[in-house]
Amino acid sequence: MNEMKLYIPARSENEVFARNVVAAFALPLNPTLSELSDVKTAVSEAVTNCIVHGYRDREGEIQITCRTEGRRLHIEISDSGRGIGDVEQALQPFFTTLEDEERSGMGFTIMQTFMDEFSVRSKPNEGTTVTMTKCFAPEADGDADAR
Ligand code: ATP
Ligand code: MG
Repeated sequence: MNEMKLYIPARSENEVFARNVVAAFALPLNPTLSELSDVKTAVSEAVTNCIVHGYRDREGEIQITCRTEGRRLHIEISDSGRGIGDVEQALQPFFTTLEDEERSGMGFTIMQTFMDEFSVRSKPNEGTTVTMTKCFAPEADGDADAR
């Protein structure tokens, strides 16, 4: 078991920082490039949502907690922003409340597709927490070159 917590201001430049920190944390598990890329994409989507929806580009804090358990990586990404009134609706593919800004409404769908477990807790005016788990495949002998 290993754990880390990261608290960062909700700024767009921190999206790249956050996904690379999570990837660095996962590295000792020796994931494949494809597994690592799935995790980075999911973290990017969740962090972007905190910035553009949770805080609507205003100031705020994003909290990221990561924990490893065997070959499982648990990630929790939270904001204390506007929250989501209807989570079920927000999870629908192509649903977005920011159509004018050319959002496709695919962020949650991407997180669900790229991660093995996914859930969202949210309360209007209190904030949103996305919880995701990636199960890395067992390390095969002699495939170090693929990593
Ligand atoms: P895309 O991710 O494709 O750019 P999107 O962000 O609108 O578009 P999703 O990431 O699937 O699509 O999110 C769907 C909707 O859920 C958002 O439009 C927004 O209304 C709501 N939402 C998502 N994350 C948050 C959050 N952290 N705080 C408040 N609302 C959120
Ligand atoms: Mg999104």
